[in-house]
Amino acid sequence: MKPPINHNERVVFQGGMLDLWKERRKPGYAAYRRAWNNNPRNEVVGDFPIHLDFEITSRCNLKCTFCMRTGLLKGGVPKGFFLGDLNPKVYFKAVGEGETKGLRSIKYNFLGEPLLVGHERLYDYIHYATSLDGIMDTMMNTNGCLLNHDMSKAILEAGLDKLIISMDSPVKKTYEGIRVGATFEEVVGNVRHFIELRNSGKFFKTSVRLQLTVIEDNKYQVGDFMKMWKPYADEVTANVACAIIENEDRETFINDPNRLMSCPAPWQRMIVLADGRIVPCCGDHHHTYILGHAMTDSLEDIWKGKKMKALRTAISSGKIDEVPLCQICSGRRMRPI
Ligand code: SF4
Ligand code: SF4
Repeated sequence: MKPPINHNERVVFQGGMLDLWKERRKPGYAAYRRAWNNNPRNEVVGDFPIHLDFEITSRCNLKCTFCMRTGLLKGGVPKGFFLGDLNPKVYFKAVGEGETKGLRSIKYNFLGEPLLVGHERLYDYIHYATSLDGIMDTMMNTNGCLLNHDMSKAILEAGLDKLIISMDSPVKKTYEGIRVGATFEEVVGNVRHFIELRNSGKFFKTSVRLQLTVIEDNKYQVGDFMKMWKPYADEVTANVACAIIENEDRETFINDPNRLMSCPAPWQRMIVLADGRIVPCCGDHHHTYILGHAMTDSLEDIWKGKKMKALRTAISSGKIDEVPLCQICSGRRMRPI
C-alpha cells in the first residue's frame, strides 16, 4: 500500500544569493514582516491590507492537472468568471491609494499566468511598485514557459523582489503530465537563463525560488528536485498546497478536528480579480464573497467594511466553520494564528 501524503511536509532549502538579497531590503522591511505575523494574532486591522494580490490576468497557457482554474474552466468559462487582463488603471489607483495607508506587499497573480500580459506591461507594474518607498515586497508565481530573455530582463530591471517558479518535478514525463502544455527542457532553460542573467547583472534584489507542490505523482521526487535546483536557486521548496489536495483526501483533511481552525488572511490581505472585483482571500476561487470593485470603491472602505468585519468576527470567535466561504477551504486547517 502506498504511504499517504504528509500534509505537513515543507522541505526548504535556503542558500544561493539570499544574503545579498537580504542586504537589499528597504528600510521598514522587518517592521512589515512583524506586522504580517502579529496583526492576525493581535487582531490589528489597520487602514489598509498589508498585501494585495492582483490577478493581472486570468488567462493561462497551461492546463495543470491539480489547478483549481483548470477544473473551473473545464466545461467552458463559467458564469461570473471574467477571462481577460486587469485594466492597468485599477492597479495604479489601488497601489497609489495603498502605499500611503499601509500597503507593503504585492503579488501579481491569482488564477492565471502573469507573464501573458507581456514584458512591457509587467515592467510598468513592477517598476511603479518598487519605486514607491512604502512597498517592501513584490512577488510573482509563474510557470516559467514565457520567461524568455526580454521577459527576464524586464523583471530584473524593474526590481521584482521574489520570483517563484513552479516546476513540480525533476522528471520530464512527470512534469509534462502534471503541467499540461509545458515543455520540460524549455522551462529548465528559461529558469537557468534567468538566474545567469540575474547573477551576471548583479540584480540581487530579486530572489529565485523553485517550487514543487507535492501530489501523488511527484511525492517520491522531492529529493531529486532539491538536488536539481540547489546549485542554481536561492530557495527550493516542496509543500502541499490547499488547492491541490485530491478531492477525497481533501474532505478528510479539511474536516480533521485535530487541526487548528484559524486563518490569518483577513488581517493581512485582499485580492483584486482581473475584472477589478475584490475578494478577501485565495480561498475564494469561485468569487462568492465579493467585497466591492477596485475602480469605483475605496479599498480602505472595503477593508474596514461590514463584510470584512463579519469574516474577522467569525474567525476570532471560533465560528469559521459557519462561514460558507471557509467551509470548503483547507486554509482554515493549515494556517494557525
Ligand atoms: S500555470 Fe498556474 S494558473 Fe495555469 S493551469 Fe497551471 S497552476 Fe493553474
Ligand atoms: S479560511 Fe480560507 S476562505 Fe476562509 S478566510 Fe481563510 S483563506 Fe479565506
